[in-house]
Amino acid sequence: MYRLFICFCFFFFLFLSSANSQAVYFITADRVFDGENLHTNWAVVISGDKITAVGPVQQVAVPPQAIKVNYPNSTLLPGLIEAHTHLFLYPYNITNWDMQVLKETDSYRTIRATVHAKNTLMAGFTTARDLGTEGAGYSDVALKQAIQAGIIPGPRLIVAGRAIVATGTYGPKGYDHDQQIMLGAETADGNDLIRVTRDQIGKGADVVKVYADYRWGKENESMPTFSIEELSLIVETAKSSGRAVVAHASTAEGMRRAVMAGVETIEHGDGGTPEVFNLMKSKNVALCPTLAATESISKYKGWRKGIDPDPEAVKKHKTSFKSAIESGVTILVGGDVGVFAHGENVLEMELLVEYGLSPLNTLKAATQVNARALHLNSQVGSLKEGWMGDVVIVSGDPTKNISDLRNIKFVMKEGIVYRHEK
Ligand SMILES: [Zn+2]
Repeated sequence: MYRLFICFCFFFFLFLSSANSQAVYFITADRVFDGENLHTNWAVVISGDKITAVGPVQQVAVPPQAIKVNYPNSTLLPGLIEAHTHLFLYPYNITNWDMQVLKETDSYRTIRATVHAKNTLMAGFTTARDLGTEGAGYSDVALKQAIQAGIIPGPRLIVAGRAIVATGTYGPKGYDHDQQIMLGAETADGNDLIRVTRDQIGKGADVVKVYADYRWGKENESMPTFSIEELSLIVETAKSSGRAVVAHASTAEGMRRAVMAGVETIEHGDGGTPEVFNLMKSKNVALCPTLAATESISKYKGWRKGIDPDPEAVKKHKTSFKSAIESGVTILVGGDVGVFAHGENVLEMELLVEYGLSPLNTLKAATQVNARALHLNSQVGSLKEGWMGDVVIVSGDPTKNISDLRNIKFVMKEGIVYRHEK
């Protein structure tokens, strides 16, 4: 997981001292993806923390004293956006989820999270939506503040805090009932959902996350948790504060209830049917498929991709994702990072392409489309004048080979350079 740090040599500009930098950058690249289309021989000017010009190189004036940046055979893109991460988790094949939640202190997990945030940024992801600390309280709110203040490097964060689960459904479970076991999220039911939603918002949640289904069936299979009425209470309460609700849902019925209640995005959706994807499309609800989580968990169980046949979970996800694409539902890029290593976020994009989304649409999803889903669409996700100076440069052409996103040469967030390869 630390491969990036061993193989590459990159500079940290002293971002504390440059946090108020008024430096001007004139950046050119063979190809520029602006969040919508691919252009050749364009230039981008960043002054202070904003983009101040973008267009064909002949039409963009070079500002005096501009720092020029150019890499051979390069593609420049808006900073990538991760729509589903858990910066307070790390791969379950290193330490299983129960042990992370139950045995590791919030302080220890926060120290780890600072490294995960740095790895995410260095991989070109300048914005991330963190969907639950899984037992680390509101440490994500503090992490976000530390990044905003320039104390540590990391992506701009949208955080969910504790997340909401129905009583009796969530883990860790299977322990002696004589002990009070802390859970990976906060329980609430019925009218109490109003209080808990307000409390989570008051403590700093930017977005409210609810588990619309979970593994509490008789055979430990995923089954719907909350009723539509309960989910609606959460949505109505959050909406009143201007916040969105997002739902973990992997069963068709859990997804349907969440959509009917008014959530904005469905996370996972493994068991989605054509009917439920059509419903999502008609209600303008986006799907964040987290293909990388499904594959990673299968690998931890022993699956050798490319050697063994696809396990049931992977087959099911491939089938449902195919119907999702056919329905025309909005697809987001979010891998459920934490299940696999932070900094490996591009894996989800590689799988989206492998499962049938075109590389260009995958790039759009990770930039413009994710920005809209995170309500940041007038700030990030496109290269436009006045928008944030979030820029990534890779060598190669990710519109042809999505894995070229791994060849990171340059990462800038709000006009500050965090990675600049020789
Ligand atoms: Zn998740």
